[in-house]
Amino acid sequence: MSNPFVIVGGGLGGLSTAIHLALQQRSVVLLEKNERLGGKMNIVQEAGYTFDTGPSLLTMPWILRDLFAAAGRNLEDTLELIPLDPICRYIWPDQTQFDFWQNLPGLVQAIDRLNPADVTGLFRFLAYVAPIYQTVADVFLLQPFDGIGDLLTPRLLRDGWRIDAFRTMDQSVQQYFQSPYLRQIFNRYATYNGSSPYLTPATFNVIAYIELVEGGWHVRGGIYRLAQALQQLAENLGVDIRTSSEVCEIRLHRGRACGVTLAGGQQIQSEAVVVNADPRYAYEQLLPGQDTQTRRLQQLEPSCSGFILLLGINRSYKQLQHHNIFFSQDYRTEFEAIFARGVPAPDPTVYVCSTSVTDQGHAPPGHMNLFVLVNAPSLNERYRWEREKEGYRQTIIRKLERMGLSDLSQHIVYEQIITPLDLWQRYHAAAGAIYGLASNNPFVAFLRPPLRARGIKQLYFVGGGTHPGGGIPLVLLSGQSVARRIAIDMPFSVRLRS
Ligand SMILES: Cc1cc2nc3c(=O)[nH]c(=O)nc-3n(C[C@H](O)[C@H](O)[C@H](O)COP(=O)(O)OP(=O)(O)OC[C@H]3O[C@@H](n4cnc5c(N)ncnc54)[C@H](O)[C@@H]3O)c2cc1C
Repeated sequence: MSNPFVIVGGGLGGLSTAIHLALQQRSVVLLEKNERLGGKMNIVQEAGYTFDTGPSLLTMPWILRDLFAAAGRNLEDTLELIPLDPICRYIWPDQTQFDFWQNLPGLVQAIDRLNPADVTGLFRFLAYVAPIYQTVADVFLLQPFDGIGDLLTPRLLRDGWRIDAFRTMDQSVQQYFQSPYLRQIFNRYATYNGSSPYLTPATFNVIAYIELVEGGWHVRGGIYRLAQALQQLAENLGVDIRTSSEVCEIRLHRGRACGVTLAGGQQIQSEAVVVNADPRYAYEQLLPGQDTQTRRLQQLEPSCSGFILLLGINRSYKQLQHHNIFFSQDYRTEFEAIFARGVPAPDPTVYVCSTSVTDQGHAPPGHMNLFVLVNAPSLNERYRWEREKEGYRQTIIRKLERMGLSDLSQHIVYEQIITPLDLWQRYHAAAGAIYGLASNNPFVAFLRPPLRARGIKQLYFVGGGTHPGGGIPLVLLSGQSVARRIAIDMPFSVRLRS
């Protein structure tokens, strides 16, 4: 009997890989250090409030639908996806308010009220990004990536100029929109992969394009339902899931990954090891002696992290939508603080998600649940969260009170603070980064660790730290790509499970 494929980590990347490998009739053991699966997609249920503590917006649901379909299931039989319209309400310090409608007539009207000239700008922007999306989807997203050779395809060499990689997002956004409000909105999409709009390539305008064209969703009951559904799917396919099972070493023999050792000392032999934990953490902690790769990853810039408040409040604020952004006065200064100085912005943009607007069961009647997220620098020597977190919490609450959530501090009946340090400790997110590496330069797609480890056979990576990057849909694609890669590399290790 052959050994199983061992997956280290039960985040969405690990779960997606497990499902795809099980569909290849392989025997799979998935090891997760925490008590629950889902990784950064997590949930807190306390004092009558329910909070999704990680992702709060689902995009590109067709990727999830394809995953269910591959397993012979219909996504909609398991999860109810609720389209959000408006997707987000934006509020500025001067009290300007803008609802970003998903329906085109609504969006056009809203833009027309803000600055009529920008209506044509919107259509020009869509026409500009559409071919970028086509190229990026074909070349970067849907293909297994195993190093620079895989990206230098005839298609990319022919169409590479179309992806606008050598301007920044901000430079391109300025070309299409005059309104400073709309410029700030379209620049915000850089934060969907933890980067700065003043550094990230204009290619990442595809994020705005995808949201504009396809929309954004909540999952009835909470986004965490998605992790539970994937766990159920994996279990039904026979994946052996072991929670509270921390891997402390990946064992190598003659240049091959041959198994893992758990924190309790137990050893599991493997056909191959797929690491869903962050690659930099894995090289630092699980793969002793791999100094060259470790140093290389340590030199790459992590994405930003997040400072999070979970607030259960005993009143409702009628002005809140499901997703809300309270913008900063000076966006550029905010990103300079985070990426150049390594400190949180003194006047941050504050994201507030209240799922109780859509999911009444997420807060007691008349109450609201507020998931408050602020972009924060990755962990560094300059800023000590343990010392500073209370003060920064005050900064955020005061800002929200100033911007319309009057007397917020007096209505908080449940509260939890989650810092970048917690993201490191809970999920082993290197430097507390939410999305793996920052995309603050045009070459990041070539710098990410590939799906197949360099120099070690039968060792693979999956998830936000590898190709194609962070975010729910990309991480699910990563699982599909790594399983395809394994199918090519190891076609004969297929074992029909009983
Ligand atoms: C606050 C926040 C907001 C976000 N918002 C969005 C959003 O709105 N939309 C969106 O699409 N994405 C969002 N994301 C990003 C998204 O959550 C991630 O990109 C995705 O969930 C990452 O999945 P993953 O499988 O790559 O990694 P992870 O979720 O990090 O999973 C890795 C798993 O490995 C486990 N592990 C680590 N070390 C070991 C070990 N030694 N042994 C065993 N197990 C181990 C960890 O515990 C974890 O469960 C957000 C993330 C955060 C934190």
